[in-house]
Amino acid sequence: MSETIEQKCLNKGVKLTDQRRIIAKVMSESNDHPDVDELYKRVSKIDTKISIATVYRTVKLFEESGILTKHEFKGGKARYEELNEGHHDHLIDIKTGEIIEFVDDEIEKLQKKVAEKHGYKLVDHIDEANCYLLNTCHIRDKAKEKVYHEIGRLKKKFKSKLKPMVIVAGCVAQAENEEMLKREPYIDLVIGPQAYHKINNKIKEYLEKQIRLDETEFDAISKFNFFEKIKNSSQKISSFLTIQEGCDKFCHFCVVPYTRGPEYSRPFDKIMSEAKILANNGVKEIILLGQNVNAYRNEHYRLSDLIIEIEKIPEILRIRYTTSHPRDMTDDLIETYGKSKKLMPLVHLPVQSGSNRVLELMNRKHIIEDYIKVYHRLKEINSSIKFSSDFIIGYPGENENDFNNTLNLIKKIKFINSYSFIFSPRPGTTASKLELIDRKISLKRLETIQGELFSQQIKMNKSLENSIIDVLVENGTEESGKFFGRSEYMTSVIFNANDNDVGKIVKVKINKSNQNTLFGEIIRNIKLKVA
Ligand code: SAM
Ligand code: SF4
Repeated sequence: MSETIEQKCLNKGVKLTDQRRIIAKVMSESNDHPDVDELYKRVSKIDTKISIATVYRTVKLFEESGILTKHEFKGGKARYEELNEGHHDHLIDIKTGEIIEFVDDEIEKLQKKVAEKHGYKLVDHIDEANCYLLNTCHIRDKAKEKVYHEIGRLKKKFKSKLKPMVIVAGCVAQAENEEMLKREPYIDLVIGPQAYHKINNKIKEYLEKQIRLDETEFDAISKFNFFEKIKNSSQKISSFLTIQEGCDKFCHFCVVPYTRGPEYSRPFDKIMSEAKILANNGVKEIILLGQNVNAYRNEHYRLSDLIIEIEKIPEILRIRYTTSHPRDMTDDLIETYGKSKKLMPLVHLPVQSGSNRVLELMNRKHIIEDYIKVYHRLKEINSSIKFSSDFIIGYPGENENDFNNTLNLIKKIKFINSYSFIFSPRPGTTASKLELIDRKISLKRLETIQGELFSQQIKMNKSLENSIIDVLVENGTEESGKFFGRSEYMTSVIFNANDNDVGKIVKVKINKSNQNTLFGEIIRNIKLKVA
């Protein structure tokens, strides 16, 4: 088979150096689809001078020339094989594969720019790096253990080489802070989400002084001040605008108050000037963002004031906000649904459980009766308003009756689009010490809930077939002539349109639907009947 890749290279005019020829030969003789690390080990046995970077660049070149194809797996793992016309099944043991970072072209360009600005060079492969940054997310299951496990792998990798600088960033870093430095001497810098803007200086500081650093103070003000100096040049049609960070509610299952710190609301005028910059840059939809967005309070301003003020920017066509807490659905915010024409009629309001007993166990600080009251008040203001929610299933102590209450609430409200999760303990939270309920019961309950939620979603989408809806056109798709946009209820819509439609709200007739997407065609000349 060795001739095959070589021959293909010749056919396609790909120049083969001696090293590339060896890589092609080894690749052709391997029938187990090796990843770059494995391929490197194999070619090194033939020529010790071949670097892993050469292996990486060569497979990339073969891939770009249509000779090899890449299969990506979770966690950035990727393996290569010859590109064949015929289909065959893959059975690949990815447990032993090393992680390789294949980055998106645009991101790579940006990384290169930032690296160069600070006098660094991007390397193609982890083995060549002398600074290693592990970005972490605490919402993930066993996130902390995974970090230490990853550091363990790194230690092995660099056992006989110069130790790289090791940075742990993100929410796990925030939650663990100096504990990480104490537990794992291999870590040099721990940096939380509130300090990302300092990262370049911190790397420099460490390299100069060689003193291990903990950067996990909650300092939202300094972060926002820093980012305000950076001009937003977003080209997107829909853009997030952070107005609030942190949370003071301490639901027993949640890590946010520990990882993102206390509630902080950005000044009203700073948010407004950012909204105007976004509008000038072509943004048509603003999604106001915060861990507890409707708890926004700065001086006398509230979320409702921001909505009313953003509504006045002519270029902005749609306004949304996420994620909100039922307790902060204040009168002024509810009334805004009657005043605003740009506030979308989808209310994402996480309820978590339909049982007051469980809500109390969760320390949610709201009850179902209040939630239903908010539902009715909003429906009275605008009957087309719809709801979506988050649910935690199998919370410690949840019994069959509690679960049925959640199911009944779902049937009553008819949520159109929701997230449901089985409870999983997050280190450091009150609920992490509670006794878990039987996993099989939780799974069964989740299945039942999702069955109901998904069928509501399918029904809602089906009900739109043959009707004409408003869609904000966001971008073209890979299929020529097909565009992507969103309905007022955030549902994805695929339809035929042209480049001039991007950024506009158009009428789309829906022909087909599935659980997550509506398919249709743009209607250009609607004749309105005048009585
Ligand atoms: N602030 C929002 C609220 O008050 O509901 C929720 C924000 S939380 C970061 C996002 C969602 O993740 C939650 O609504 C919850 O459903 C889910 N979640 C958070 N912690 C969880 C846990 N320990 N187990 C399962 N799901 C969890
Ligand atoms: Fe705060 Fe929401 Fe987490 Fe509760 S679930 S602690 S309200 S972020």
